Amino acid sequence: MNHTYGHIAILGAGESGMGAAQLAARVGVRAFLSEYGSLSASDKALLEKWGVEYEEGGHTLERILAADGVIKSPGIKHTTPVVQAVKAAGLPLMGEVDWATLYTKAPIVAVTGSNGKTTTANLCHHIISGEKDCVLAGNIGLSLGRALAERMKANTEDPEVIVIEVSSFQLDDARHLSPMVGILTNITPDHLDRYNYSIDEYAASKLQMLEYTKKEGFFLFCDDDPITMGHLAPHLEKGTLPNMIAFGIQEHGSEFRKAKGLNNTIEITINNEAMTIEELALQGKHNMYNSMAAGLGSTLMNIRKETIRTKLASFDALEHRLENVLNISGVEYINDSKATNVNATYYALECQMKPVVWILGGVDKGNDYNELIPLVKNKIKAIVALGVDNSKILDAFQGIVEIVDTDSMEKAVRKASRLAEKGDVVLLSPCCASFDLFENYEDRGRQFKNAIRNL
Ligand code: ADP
Repeated sequence: MNHTYGHIAILGAGESGMGAAQLAARVGVRAFLSEYGSLSASDKALLEKWGVEYEEGGHTLERILAADGVIKSPGIKHTTPVVQAVKAAGLPLMGEVDWATLYTKAPIVAVTGSNGKTTTANLCHHIISGEKDCVLAGNIGLSLGRALAERMKANTEDPEVIVIEVSSFQLDDARHLSPMVGILTNITPDHLDRYNYSIDEYAASKLQMLEYTKKEGFFLFCDDDPITMGHLAPHLEKGTLPNMIAFGIQEHGSEFRKAKGLNNTIEITINNEAMTIEELALQGKHNMYNSMAAGLGSTLMNIRKETIRTKLASFDALEHRLENVLNISGVEYINDSKATNVNATYYALECQMKPVVWILGGVDKGNDYNELIPLVKNKIKAIVALGVDNSKILDAFQGIVEIVDTDSMEKAVRKASRLAEKGDVVLLSPCCASFDLFENYEDRGRQFKNAIRNL
């Protein structure tokens, strides 16, 4: 193992900061955690138990710069003074997942992309766990540091495979990450505010996964995705790359295509072996992409065809991602609260086979709703706009279908239930961030489910 850093400073005490502190304590690395806000009593108690020094209510530069490496929570921007000072001092700046990979020898499957990361990472873990000791961590809610530290505490061996979900912010902070399999699900406009409103900068950030993936490893991408393909082109002309493997649905794929999908069936052909999987637990075109990526990733981790087939057929939908909630008087209620951009909602609408009463709205990240108009004409019976300011939604869809304007989940669900008839679907797929009326997308999804149960 490569113990490069003897003394680390950790900026921020979220899941990643606390995970880094826990792993540092476990592997005997001196750590100092610095939180600009306040620390909870339980966090302080844990840090004391682990013997990790800490401060709150500001950053003391001298103590931070005394470390030989600095771990930054993904939420802290590169423009903040403390990060600038770390950079000016020439200290290595890392993300938590990135640093934690130094403490495992397990091959890593790393998933990034604009949409489908959580689903694909969970699918990979679900399949690979069928045969191997596999850890799922990263952007998913469990830091890799905590996952590894807990195993070390329980004297459990290094996992056989690690699957991590990596956000573009985490990619931006990576310097040690070297997955055996790097998966890029797709690139569509999202979080552009962090990238100077430039899709090129955002795409370049996502394509860092290609550079990090081991040269003897595999880079998996969707060759139907024009932004991925456009930004990949210059790399293809350059020197050594990992093994390039593509998946797609469109008829004419790239020369790298090893998996294709049609009518909810996927076909994977790799190392002269072909497998056809007809029964996919997750429905919709977007989930064919996710299933192909996970099927390929698992094959490359030497998982048997039979396991891949049964596991892809037995995966339960994740909460807030096209999650079936209830059927009330013949009306199906579906929670897709995690759809916070136009592309995610596009796929949610695309796979609906019944008339839809669609609830959408929230904080718009510069959405262009034009892409959705053909689907709205075909599939949507009525729109319930839910947000503090719904004017853009009203403008976009006025005159196409009936629209009602609401400003609370309770009202939205009540209106939607009145508009829906037996045989219809009420779908929450908001296209927008949730911060105007809710704490986060989970809170929005839970409020949706509660409102349905109260009907
Ligand atoms: P992420 O972790 O990248 O946000 P999730 O798997 O949590 O992705 O899914 C987020 C939203 O995007 C959900 O609403 C889901 O229905 C939709 N989605 C999932 N996979 C894809 C995909 N491959 N392409 C487009 N949208 C997708």
